[in-house]
Amino acid sequence: MQTRQPSPDGKRDLAVAAAILAGHLPPEFAPLATLAYNYWWSWAPGGEDVFSSLDPHRWQRCGMNPVRLLQELDPSRLRVLAMQPGVLPRVEALARALREELRRPERAITVPGRPAVIVCAEFGIHRSLPFYAGGLGVLAGDFLKEVSDQGYPAAGIGLFYSQGSFHQRVDNSGWQHEFWLDTDSDRLPAAVVTGADGAPLTVSVPMRGRELTAQVWRVDVGRVPLYLLDTNHPGNVPGDRWITSRLYVGNREVRLAQYALLGIGGIRAMRAMGIEPAIIHLNEGHAGLALLELLREQIAAGAGVEAATERVRAATVFTTHTPVAAGNETLSTDDLRSVLPDLPASLGMEWPEVVAMGRIRPEDPAEPFGLTPFALRMTGAANAVSRLHGEVARQMWHDLWPGVAPEQVPIGHVTNGVHMATWMAPEMWALLGRYLPGWPASAADPATWEHVDEIPDGELWAVRCQLRAGLGGFVRDRSVVERLGRGEALPYAESAARAWSDDSLTAGFARRIATYKRLYLVTRNLDRGLRLMNGELPVQLVIAGRAHPSDDDAKRTVQQVFALNYLPNLAGRVVFLEEHDMALSARLVRGSDLWVNLPRPLNEASGTSGMKSALNGGLQLSVLDGWWAEAYDGANGWAIASNPGLPAAEQDAQDATALFDLLESEVLPLFYARNEHGIPHGWVQKMKASLKSIGPRFTATRMLGEYVDRARALRGAPGE
Ligand SMILES: *Cc1c(COP(=O)(O)O)cnc(C)c1O
Repeated sequence: MQTRQPSPDGKRDLAVAAAILAGHLPPEFAPLATLAYNYWWSWAPGGEDVFSSLDPHRWQRCGMNPVRLLQELDPSRLRVLAMQPGVLPRVEALARALREELRRPERAITVPGRPAVIVCAEFGIHRSLPFYAGGLGVLAGDFLKEVSDQGYPAAGIGLFYSQGSFHQRVDNSGWQHEFWLDTDSDRLPAAVVTGADGAPLTVSVPMRGRELTAQVWRVDVGRVPLYLLDTNHPGNVPGDRWITSRLYVGNREVRLAQYALLGIGGIRAMRAMGIEPAIIHLNEGHAGLALLELLREQIAAGAGVEAATERVRAATVFTTHTPVAAGNETLSTDDLRSVLPDLPASLGMEWPEVVAMGRIRPEDPAEPFGLTPFALRMTGAANAVSRLHGEVARQMWHDLWPGVAPEQVPIGHVTNGVHMATWMAPEMWALLGRYLPGWPASAADPATWEHVDEIPDGELWAVRCQLRAGLGGFVRDRSVVERLGRGEALPYAESAARAWSDDSLTAGFARRIATYKRLYLVTRNLDRGLRLMNGELPVQLVIAGRAHPSDDDAKRTVQQVFALNYLPNLAGRVVFLEEHDMALSARLVRGSDLWVNLPRPLNEASGTSGMKSALNGGLQLSVLDGWWAEAYDGANGWAIASNPGLPAAEQDAQDATALFDLLESEVLPLFYARNEHGIPHGWVQKMKASLKSIGPRFTATRMLGEYVDRARALRGAPGE
């Protein structure tokens, strides 16, 4: 009798990689290897310390990648560490906690054992896995972590970028330059999925008249596997190997090839690994071509187009993240024809029929194939990422549903939320743990956060000061080094370190530098800004963010901000830090007292960095757009009620004035109004209002709950 081979899923491959790594370590440290191959350590309490304390310097040198750290560490150092009290017990405790985490019983989304499959072009799991560009990827990473914490079955599907996302350097004229480094896959906590014969599992997608072959990597994110497709495979010609080299850059054909691989190849990989999904979640339009493959499968099985469409819709959900029409990518028939020439034949259709599926108005021959319209039409449930974005999206896409009133358009919203254990500083986590009953399991319950009022002002303020000082030390070190790296004179470079204070109100602005985020507003009203920075109640500003390599407008914004660095009377009160990655992002959202966001209204789908800041006791000063439009309650921060009806230039002028007015008349006086113990009572009250109102609502726990409910409703599955 023939026994059925279990489908390859990469589990064994990761275990083999961990065993090889363990073989290089003294036996008592072997559990570290298993820990290193699962990113769970990165959000487990004390997890990072276990690795960083082995060799803090090398930990930074290794980009906080534990596999690389263990490969590079001198085993004799480990033998010395083994004799120090506490070291081995901590390793063992963390290893035991991971084993228990992986053994916890699984909950069901719909049918037990069937996972949610999340397809996305980027996943921001950790700084050491550079496969993300910004908020979208970090959200997808937070989503996987939360799914793992909540014990639902899931798998992520994305791309393995051999050069990842770009690195940023700014020259002394303020111009951004980019470079890419090869991702050293042997040093990542990843393994190629192999089949029963030991050869890499591959999937192929017909493209440009050839079969494009991709192998599949597995990365473990707690209980959740993340599968990443990689065309850097000997079966491909060099041009095809290049397809998965870089995130979001390259010409249109390369990008389309990436989307086709992610979507079509992603579904094929899912099948090859025997994954039977409860629901397939397409995160942003890039993933939309997965629907072509799902449709093809149904048609190949004999269904007519209509029945096939219904079956695909019954199994898929879509999240749109881009409220600006131009940001939703479209493909011309020629683009499609050159990359996917076999597409119509595979679907039993003609080109016009194929392209019509991705048009807002199917009969308009001039309209290209839009990834978002296609996904909206072909999935069973679609959502925007904040309440306001839901309204914008229903307006924006209502022509897809002719005769339906905009407010009836079937696009809902699930407001984004962030993964608390990833983004909250350990100091804040511990403080809340002392005062909030049932912490952290009770964190999704608003009643839990009411106990924030019981935290003595002095304790909350002490944590805030500690976090600000932590950022201060980092800013001083980094800004000097970065200035020297740009060839600046030593006195100027060192002035950065002298000017930055651990006590001044510290404002942060860090996110992708896109023009609609209007970072340039901080350079308006320069005289006024200078007065504030040098006044008796000073503010200092730390900025970080990368502009897309081909976005010269955004690069000019960086340059304008950079020019501030050279104003003599500013003396380092404004600092721009290069290389905005998840590690820098974490430092900034933890250390800033005030988090500033200035999007052009209705252009910010949600925004998540402000939520990260709020969880650390940061207060928001933001345009009422995206998530802040539903979070702001008058007491928990400050709002700029920008008028979306105005011409851009007037809007800019008004909003810049509102920003400086608020800073001058409210923010700074409140921060510096100290009582006899040196505590700003009013500021601390606002921090408490912010924690109470934002803490329970804008986390991934609430977000995932809503997604699960939507999936169950679509699948007709009961709740638990
Ligand atoms: C959270 C995060 C973002 C998102 O910032 P927004 O303010 O939501 O645009 C971007 N980049 C990184 C590295 C992040 O961690």
